[in-house]
Parts: sequence; structure tokens; C-alpha cells
Amino acid sequence: MSGDIIKDKHFKQILYGVAVAVTQTLFCGACFYVGLFRTEFLEFIYLFSACWAGHLLFVVAAYSGFHKRLKFESLILPHMVWNGIWFLVSAYYLDRMRISVMMMFLLVMLIGSFRIKLSGFMLLAGIAIIGYGGVLYLLGQNHPETLFIATEFLQELMQWGAFSLVILFFAWMGADISGLRQALAAKNKALNEALRRISELATRDELTGLFNRRYISDVFKIQKGMADRGGHDFVLCYLDLDHFKQVNDTYGHSVGDEVLKVYAELAQSHVRSIDYCARFGGEEFVIILVKTEINGAHSVVDRIRHSIENYNFQTIAPGLKVTLSVGMSQYQSFERVEDALARADSALYRAKNAGRNRVVVADMPPRNMEVLHGVAVKPDKKA
Ligand code: GH3
Ligand code: MG
Ligand code: MG
Repeated sequence: MSGDIIKDKHFKQILYGVAVAVTQTLFCGACFYVGLFRTEFLEFIYLFSACWAGHLLFVVAAYSGFHKRLKFESLILPHMVWNGIWFLVSAYYLDRMRISVMMMFLLVMLIGSFRIKLSGFMLLAGIAIIGYGGVLYLLGQNHPETLFIATEFLQELMQWGAFSLVILFFAWMGADISGLRQALAAKNKALNEALRRISELATRDELTGLFNRRYISDVFKIQKGMADRGGHDFVLCYLDLDHFKQVNDTYGHSVGDEVLKVYAELAQSHVRSIDYCARFGGEEFVIILVKTEINGAHSVVDRIRHSIENYNFQTIAPGLKVTLSVGMSQYQSFERVEDALARADSALYRAKNAGRNRVVVADMPPRNMEVLHGVAVKPDKKA
């Protein structure tokens, strides 16, 4: 049996219920042994075989995960009822010990206090109280001698009354505990959602959903760390929408926002899940392509450039055309992140100067002694 199923909360509660059934069976067995269970041996075996066949079905159902397909939250309440039915059956045969087995209803309710609602508790309390009354009635009909010989009838009735009060109190308390537990679970859920939202706000740009500048700066450092250890290449791409101010001026700021979102979708659809797309600010973006050589990266970025150039903005602003300029640099071991970025920025500057809507690859940093010694190198001069 795998550890996961043991951890499943429903399965665990079915096992608790089975533990109560074991207690009841052992108790009845002991009573039978000393002659306090009013059946023949075979009858006793038949009774408890039927009882355990049911429990077995519940265990198998919970193990198979069948309960998860039920609308009714779980198998727990039906299992509680099944346990209750067998307490009542045993109570019918246990003359002097009747109240002891009836008290096991309380154990079952305790298990239910994890997740059963008030209605479920009331159902169980009803079964216990009416069932107990029914057992006494049947005994009065079939074995009146057991009521009068074993004990006084009035005493039996008082016991039934006390039992009813205790069970009602338990049902009420149990529902209260269950309510508290559910409120706590709801609060935990809300807290988790808030944490998820906070971490999203801390790492994502709100408009485009891309990573924000802070997050991508951390990614740079991690990628640099891996690249400096060797065997890990990454390419840094600096992207800037062309004449974006004009887009805003001509079509309005909200159209500009839509264009930024379109870019975000297109960019993300062209990179792999291991790559990083970020909004660096305004209409400037950064993409980190990991485990990639400059030639492969060039074709990826060029596809992004093509896709925005050919994008049909008809539904956003008829006639709108948007292009993109890109500068990219392959990170060189022990280069400072700022310098790799400055090289990409300088290449972007050249792309803009050369007429925009193009991808330019940055010059390599000078391979001088400083690089070999792990000290920063100067970025190449702007064109
Ligand atoms: P270039 O081709 O040289 O990059 O020209 P450009 O017009 O794109 O560059 P410039 O830096 O002059 O203008 C950037 C514009 O981007 C100005 C600013 O209003 C706009 N912008 C920045 N952030 C946002 C935003 O969140 N939403 C919208 N709609 N516009 C933005
Ligand atoms: Mg621009
Ligand atoms: Mg710009």
C-alpha cells in the first residue's frame, strides 16, 4: 500500500472507523465468551461476517479513490452510519452491556468532527437515539425478560434518555469543531492565494504577465553563475518596439497597451519553456535564451520580429503596423552581466540606426587578460 493513500484524508478516516469496528468486535467477542451476547456461536460469526463484509467494501472503495467521483463529499458519513447500524444490532444482543456498545457512537462522531456537517451529525444522532429506542421496543416485544431480568425497565429508559442527551451534545459540538476546521481550511486557502498573488506581483509585470525587471535581473545572475562554471551558454536579447510613441500618439494609450500584450504573447509562443521573457520597462523587453548559441538565438528572435511585423492588428486598430528592433549578445564567461547587457543595448542602438525592424548581433568583448582573470571587461563602444 503506497504512502500516498495512507495520507489521503478520506482513506485515513475510513481506517479510523474500521478501528472503532475492531474495538466493537473485540468487545462483543469478549461478551460472547462470558455469555453476555445472546446468540449461538454460528449466529455470532454470521453477524460479524456481514458487518465486516461492509467495512471491507468501504475500505476498498476508499482505496480505489471511488469516493472522489461522488458528489457527496466522501464515504465517511455512510461509513459512520454503517458502524452505527452494527452498534444497534450488537445492542440488541448485549443485555447488560448494551450502553457500553452504544457509547461507541461517540467515537464515531469524534471521527466525523473532522469534516461532517451538522446535518450529518443530526442524521447519526437520530439513528442512535431512535435506533436505541427501537432496540428497546423490539426487546420488549421479543425478549421482555431481558429488560426485566437484567435490569429495571425504568433504569433502561433513563439510560436511553442520558444517552440521547450525550449524543445530541456530541453532535452539536462535533458540528462546531467541523465548522472551525472548515473555516480554518478556507482561511488557509485564502492565505495561499494571497501568497501566490504577492509572489506574482513581485516577479511579473502586471500588464503583459511577462517577468519583471527585478526577476530577470536575478535570472541573469543565476545564468551567469552556471555559465562561469562552464558548459552552459546563454544569449541575451534586448528588444524595443519601433516608433512606439507614434503608436500611442496616433491610436491612443490603450491601443499601445494592447500592442504590448500582443508582443508578450508572440514572444512567449516562440521561445521554449526554459527561456525567460521579461518586460524591462516601457516598450523595452529582454529575452534570455538558455543553452543556446548565437546563431540559433538569432533565428528565434528573427521569427518573433517577423511575427509582430506580420501580425494583423485589425481588431485592435485597423491599419496599425508594428515592428521591432533587437540587439543580442552571447554571454562570455566571467563577463559582468551589465556588460553583456550593454553590448546587447549597443547592438540594439545599431539596429535602430540602421533603419529599425532588424536584429543585430553584438560584437564580442575584447578577450584580454582581464577576462581571463575573471575581472569585468569594458562594453564595446556604441556605434
Ligand atoms: P524608437 O523606435 O526609437 O524606440 O522610438 P519609440 O517611439 O518607440 O521610443 P520612445 O522611447 O521615444 O517612446 C517610447 C514610448 O513608449 C513612450 C511611452 O509613452 C511609451 N510607453 C512606455 N510604457 C508604456 C505603456 O505601458 N503603455 C503604453 N501604451 N505606452 C508606453
Ligand atoms: Mg521604442
Ligand atoms: Mg525604448
